[in-house]
Amino acid sequence: MKTVNHWIGDKPVEGTSGRFGPVYNPATGAQEKQVAFATVDEVDTAVATAKAASLSWGQSSLAKRTAILFKFRELLDAHRDEIAELISAEHGKVHSDALGEVARGLEVVELACGISEKLKGELSTQVSTRVDVASIRQPLGVVAGITPFNFPAMVPMWMFPLAIATGNTFVLKPSEKDPSASYRLAELLSEAGLPDGVFNIVQGDKVAVDRLLEHPDIAAVSFVGSTPIAKYIQLKAVQHDKRVQALGGAKNHMLVLPDADLDFAADQAINAAYGSAGERCMAVSVVVAVGGTGDELVAKIAERAKSLRIGPGDDPSSEMGPLITREHRDKVASYVTSAAEQGAEVVVDGTGYSVEGHEDGFFIGVSLLDKVPVTADAYKDEIFGPVLCVVRADTYEDAIKLINSSRWGNGTAIFTRDGGAARRFQLEVQAGMVGVNVPIPVPVGYHSFGGWKDSLFGDLHIYGNDGIAFYTQGKVITTRWPDPADGGINLGFPSHS
Ligand code: NAD
Repeated sequence: MKTVNHWIGDKPVEGTSGRFGPVYNPATGAQEKQVAFATVDEVDTAVATAKAASLSWGQSSLAKRTAILFKFRELLDAHRDEIAELISAEHGKVHSDALGEVARGLEVVELACGISEKLKGELSTQVSTRVDVASIRQPLGVVAGITPFNFPAMVPMWMFPLAIATGNTFVLKPSEKDPSASYRLAELLSEAGLPDGVFNIVQGDKVAVDRLLEHPDIAAVSFVGSTPIAKYIQLKAVQHDKRVQALGGAKNHMLVLPDADLDFAADQAINAAYGSAGERCMAVSVVVAVGGTGDELVAKIAERAKSLRIGPGDDPSSEMGPLITREHRDKVASYVTSAAEQGAEVVVDGTGYSVEGHEDGFFIGVSLLDKVPVTADAYKDEIFGPVLCVVRADTYEDAIKLINSSRWGNGTAIFTRDGGAARRFQLEVQAGMVGVNVPIPVPVGYHSFGGWKDSLFGDLHIYGNDGIAFYTQGKVITTRWPDPADGGINLGFPSHS
């Protein structure tokens, strides 16, 4: 069986722990690979390697860094299909969706290619007589990224392109469920000419994560994953004096006003709820139908839901693939069962679904639940599967109150033709990313991504300008080239003349 190894100092490194995790093909249910789980010593080796590389990398010219990033961008572009195939084979998502993930990661690489412009700093001359002030930003040193299973290529690329462009070295701990895509990115970075030790991967589980969080030579940690682990990461990183951004889970609401184009809204709800089998932190998992739109909207969504083609990710006719594991599939199914017991109407039931020839795959059909009580588990929890809840609200005010009472605040969207209502929603809704007739408002690479409340712990969002700020520290330099007349003793607080 193929083993996915660590990547330390620009080469593969076999694990020594004797501990491995299974890597499945979710479409067949078969374990096709195993991934090495790092020991504390292996993490220490990766961090020491990254630290040794950070001295010269941090001082390397912007010209050198961007030349490598441009080359990496070209390699990534040329290998889109291959990386998408690796993603589909371990995650299960369909090829077109996996290609979309690579494209959204590439956006951040392109931002990193322009880092010279972003790191120009600021200069004020003559702030006082013969005194100039410059503000610059410098790298932190060694930084770490810990990433989830659902975007095995994109989420690492939310982190490392900007981290290394700003002069840091990087240690990635990818999800143990689908580690091959980021491993392939390491090979491409190497091919692009990235010096030894600037980008490293330790595979593994909690042992590796905890060591990264405790290690004195890690300056900052970027995390993306579920809310309980995000909270844990933030607390532990802060206890060990690290800068941290920890992005968590979500329950994204899509508000549909009576004046919306209901066919368009139904199409968008389908795409955003069932794309990637609902395993997206920006998936729409709740539609809030306002003012009597519910019956018509539910009928339109149900009609579309029944015609979706579910199958293996490498079959071009599949629109939705399987879930990541058998356990997760069963847990998702249990939410549909419990919702029925807790008062919801099951309009479309996707449980018990199987795909011919792939009976052992981790497939589930799509489910549509109507009139879901807010006390039902299906409403309260992040299901992370193809289950869409519809709740009804009499008025806009009731709807926004419901959305703002959620513990999460990642993405949200309003569907309407009324500009005034949309403007009000933008200002009133408590979430970090808002769509107006856009169901999955994932910001482009040069804006930043992040939620509010239990969807993000820390203050700076990921990628965009916030990403650059996160991976750098400010320094302000006040300079005087004195004239002989400037001398003299003065113990007063410096003021300007
Ligand atoms: P997860 O929290 O289980 O795992 C994320 C990472 O943390 C993995 O690398 C994993 O190995 C590690 N980890 C897991 N348990 C740990 C523990 N006890 N101690 C230390 N490390 C641990 O998340 P997942 O299941 O891989 O991903 C799905 C979750 O990620 C969903 O909740 C989804 O909403 C969220 N997500 C959020 C965003 C965002 O931008 N907010 C983006 C993608 C995914």
